[in-house]
Amino acid sequence: MSPLPVKPWVRKLEPYVPGKPIEELERELGIAKAVKLASNENPLGPSPRAVEALWNAAEGMHRYPDGASFRLRQALAVRLGVEPRQLVFGAGCDEILELLAKCFLGPSDEIVFAWPSFAMYPVVTQGMGATAVRVPLDGALVHDLRAMRGAVTSRTRLVIVCNPNNPTGTSVGAEDFDRFVASLPEDVVLAIDEAYVEFAKRSDFPDALGWVRRRPGTCTLRTFSKLYGLAGLRVGYAVADPELAGYLERARHPFNVSLAAEAAALAALDDHEHVEKTLRTNAEGMAFLGRELARLGLETWPSDANFLLAEAPPGTYERLLREGVIVRPMEGFGLPNHVRITIGLAEENERLVKALEKILGTRR
Ligand SMILES: *Cc1c(COP(=O)(O)O)cnc(C)c1O
Repeated sequence: MSPLPVKPWVRKLEPYVPGKPIEELERELGIAKAVKLASNENPLGPSPRAVEALWNAAEGMHRYPDGASFRLRQALAVRLGVEPRQLVFGAGCDEILELLAKCFLGPSDEIVFAWPSFAMYPVVTQGMGATAVRVPLDGALVHDLRAMRGAVTSRTRLVIVCNPNNPTGTSVGAEDFDRFVASLPEDVVLAIDEAYVEFAKRSDFPDALGWVRRRPGTCTLRTFSKLYGLAGLRVGYAVADPELAGYLERARHPFNVSLAAEAAALAALDDHEHVEKTLRTNAEGMAFLGRELARLGLETWPSDANFLLAEAPPGTYERLLREGVIVRPMEGFGLPNHVRITIGLAEENERLVKALEKILGTRR
């Protein structure tokens, strides 16, 4: 072991494994047209208005960005009906998770979240030397809120509910969620990760912003990476009660959101046409893949997001790679017989189905 005085919890950190980049697979296979359905990105690409705003912003890139993200803050505050000071911006929601960990977790503290859920939760926990209490999803792969409540102890500082949940796409309804939140001790911070909220279709989807208004120490996390197609620029935010927002603001770097990211996010927010088209493409692709995977005898789970969890025989991930289709393997989440599939464009979804047909056919 090296003599570096590294914190023991940092020594144990495992590097995050992202979805395989398209270019890498194309190089490996020597092919031209690989399809990536692995990272829940927007298959339509960014809003053309965001691209234009980015070009225009380029002229000013010798200047530091506006550390307060004033224009984006005003626009979002109006859109969400909150006070501007309730918003905290980050280089993606990932940074907001880091800020929460930095503010509330230390070596003797516990954080409660469901599992399988978003891969960054254990990473930010470990980064602070805190203890992750992972509560298994129930039999339907939905958050087991009763068990999560049972896991809250006097050492619990932070609870995260990922709704809709990544990587399962499942969601919890208002009745269960409201009962859960009402039962939490006052001194526990609640973060509701709503990275996919805009895709949710269930009519009883919980009102997280309502809880932000009513319950001190509550925040909801949102991002421009998924619906708005800006994953490469890195911008996300928290909506929190003013006190919590104030601490997160103090913990962040002053110029964490770049000039480019703010300009593009602001433009994307107003491109209703792009948003509508994205939602339509997702709904159609979801219906198509649900049907086709059922036809192939593969179970899927009801999804309120822009991806599907699907049953798949072990080895499916690797075999799909050889067909030029990248999905997300789920072994690392304790789901060895599953893959996560991002909903793509119609032709990409068809490519996936054809590849699956081939793989399943040759298996028998
Ligand atoms: C993608 C994702 C995020 C964060 O995305 P950023 O690109 O960092 O904004 C957060 N939570 C969940 C559940 C996600 O899937």
